[in-house]
Amino acid sequence: MLFRSLVAVAALFAASPALAHEPGAAIQTAAAAYVRPSNAERLAVIVDQLTAAGLPHEIQTFEGGNQRSGPMAGSNVVVTLGDGPRDIVLTAHYDAVKLSDGSMSQGVVDNAGSVLAMIEAMKTLKGQATDHRLIFVLTDQEELGLIGAKAWLAAHDKSRIHAVINADVAAYGRTVMYGENNGGQSGFVLGALRAQCAEQAVDCVAFPIYPPSDDRVFSAAGVPTGRRLRRLPDLSAQRRPRLLGRRRARGLAGNPGRRRGAPDVAGLQRRRGQRPEGRLRPAGLPAHPFQGR
Ligand SMILES: [Zn+2]
Repeated sequence: MLFRSLVAVAALFAASPALAHEPGAAIQTAAAAYVRPSNAERLAVIVDQLTAAGLPHEIQTFEGGNQRSGPMAGSNVVVTLGDGPRDIVLTAHYDAVKLSDGSMSQGVVDNAGSVLAMIEAMKTLKGQATDHRLIFVLTDQEELGLIGAKAWLAAHDKSRIHAVINADVAAYGRTVMYGENNGGQSGFVLGALRAQCAEQAVDCVAFPIYPPSDDRVFSAAGVPTGRRLRRLPDLSAQRRPRLLGRRRARGLAGNPGRRRGAPDVAGLQRRRGQRPEGRLRPAGLPAHPFQGR
């Protein structure tokens, strides 16, 4: 039941690695299209891509902005698939952040990559029978303070929401990072995520603390929420089979969080000269989220 109800998690998994590992010309073109000088133009890119995929969508405008920007209208893009008595809401923000010199960030990793993964999931799920209604909300003004997500939730009956899955920051590789601090009501969402990590032999790294994204709007409202999928560079070709073999041999498939012997992603990045992700795992926190519990 859990698997069926959270079919969307599986679809995201199915879609995202395909994007990550087969960065063909089509995907590169789709991602590059988001590099635009304004969020309004990024919105137009989404509309084009959804239209090309034959996905009916709705643009829901809201009065947003913050103290720094002043009042500013925003636009969420909503795609609804399937039907059911309750909703699974999948969110990814499409707006890019404005840099201090006034120009726009390219906003491909943060967060056009997640938007593309969501669109791939929509294509996979379109026309499929589901136990729940699926509502994809591609949000605006996340970078101004999660404003698009707040506007969407304010206009919806949260008691209908069975679970929320938010994707923020998507690069490449098959490692998924996720936050665990979305409240006790979100335990079954994390359970579904971990089950998918195990079933699909995807490396997943849990973090007890994660910086805010749209998920915080929903978890603060008491809605079960899965938080911020994030991909990191792939493990080396030599290391992956050995690790996966060891994991299977040890019967660890039910718990894909990082264990002793599991990949030290930050260390791997440092050795490759990439920026370590230590910011996301503050010093002193246990390497494995369940240590000491
Ligand atoms: Zn983001």
